[in-house]
Amino acid sequence: MPRGMFRSRRLRRVFVKTPGSRTVLQYRRRKPSRAHCASCHKPLAGIPREINSIMRNIPKTAKRPQRPYGGMFCSACTRALVQRKARGAA
Ligand SMILES: [Zn+2]
Repeated sequence: MPRGMFRSRRLRRVFVKTPGSRTVLQYRRRKPSRAHCASCHKPLAGIPREINSIMRNIPKTAKRPQRPYGGMFCSACTRALVQRKARGAA
């Protein structure tokens, strides 16, 4: 029976094949929920869903789309916002 902290489903279970061809069970942190658009709350594309220790090693350019409001608004909301700004209505 695993230790108490490993009996809950707080951590995800990953089966890893060792070099000695044994399969061992490892417990890893769960991935965070996906980033959502600040306006329409749709899930954002192009944003990796990783824990902070992995996100730290990912280049900034790979963490969000390279456009104004990338990683904040979805493409449709950004397009609408830019159009509204160009028309001078905030
Ligand atoms: Zn949106």
